[in-house]
Amino acid sequence: MQKKLHEMARIASDEIKHASALEELKQIQVRYLGKKGEMTAILRTIAGLPSAERPAAGSLANRLRDELTASLSAREEELKRETHRRLAESSRVDVTLPGRKTGLGHLHPLTLVLEEMADIFLGLGFTIAEGPEIESDYYNFEALNIPKEHPARDMQDSFYITADVLLRTHTSPVQVRTMEKMAPQVPVRIVAPGKVYRRDDDATHSPMFHQVEGLVIDRSISLANLKGTLLLFARQMFGREQQVRLRPSFFPFTEPSAEVDIACVICSGRGCRVCKDSGWIEILGAGMVHPRVLEMSGYDPEECSGFAFGMGVERIAMLKYGVDDLRLFFANDMRLLQQFR
Ligand SMILES: [Zn+2]
Repeated sequence: MQKKLHEMARIASDEIKHASALEELKQIQVRYLGKKGEMTAILRTIAGLPSAERPAAGSLANRLRDELTASLSAREEELKRETHRRLAESSRVDVTLPGRKTGLGHLHPLTLVLEEMADIFLGLGFTIAEGPEIESDYYNFEALNIPKEHPARDMQDSFYITADVLLRTHTSPVQVRTMEKMAPQVPVRIVAPGKVYRRDDDATHSPMFHQVEGLVIDRSISLANLKGTLLLFARQMFGREQQVRLRPSFFPFTEPSAEVDIACVICSGRGCRVCKDSGWIEILGAGMVHPRVLEMSGYDPEECSGFAFGMGVERIAMLKYGVDDLRLFFANDMRLLQQFR
């Protein structure tokens, strides 16, 4: 009997030592100490032993049962601690590590340039005007002295929606809309930024691009006012030493008309590949508002005069940031965009 008890206790304590989960421990407890457990069964047989053997067997059985109970609870504590440690390790937070930054959005380079351009003109006393991108043939062409059969219509490949409605090819219709609203009041001083559309697609053209249109009407406005305004703009945009140059040109809605250059921003006027060794780079078209355009919009060309200019925002951005392909602005390549944070 005693030998049997020792043998069972040895096996049980071995099992307890190797139990690797609380659930397993529970099963061992039931197997030995439960109501139908092996130890319990032996304890019950003690009552049937001869009286001389009973005390020794009883005390041994009790001692082994207590030892078994003690090692069960000791192993239980151990297993619980281990589980906690493993949990803590897997979810441990190292508070000394630097935080993970979420990417903050930022403005597109074209928006940055557009805002900078607008700020410069606001500082000169201009206000912002806007007009529709879907425009009638009248505002886009007719009212700007470009009648139906005028060859100048070939200069711009347009996206027509119907015979008389198109996506505006320039921001100049905003000039006409503003003049119609204001006439015959002076002064008019507006810039009109916005999207325009032409059927072009190459390294320096995109079917959609941005322009900033400028219009000033007042009594005795001259070409000198135009040049002064553009010089101020160029110097704020490209540096205090910047120079502008006006070359005679032709637009149906201005007379006289000029293409306006700035000293090459790459070589500062010494001559390079970008400026084709001329030292100058064209940035916009401008001129004195054609008397016929003034007249059509309700102004008397004998009473007042005005100047207008229109420039491509992408062109200015390319020169300012040294980007050589206009399409890059619309490719949404993060490697380019992230440089403008
Ligand atoms: Zn150059």
